[in-house]
Amino acid sequence: MNDLAPGRWVLSRIVPLYKARVSDLGPDDFVKITCYACGHETLITPDTFLVRPDVSPNTRVVDLERRVRCRECNAIGEALVSVRWG
Ligand SMILES: [Zn+2]
Repeated sequence: MNDLAPGRWVLSRIVPLYKARVSDLGPDDFVKITCYACGHETLITPDTFLVRPDVSPNTRVVDLERRVRCRECNAIGEALVSVRWG
């Protein structure tokens, strides 16, 4: 039997948002950030986070909500974060 037959061992790499860490994100994935205060939406790549000293590959994606600042209205910690898997 061919264990690599299509459909047999296909594992989704999509991780539930509450479990997802920055390291789960690949180069084709985006983090979508929506500002509660003004509704501004932006898509950013994981590399953008990893240059920050307070974010490591182990940081949970949902924890980014409290750390990001809206570029439109400067609200801090008003973000709704979700992952757009590439
Ligand atoms: Zn805003």
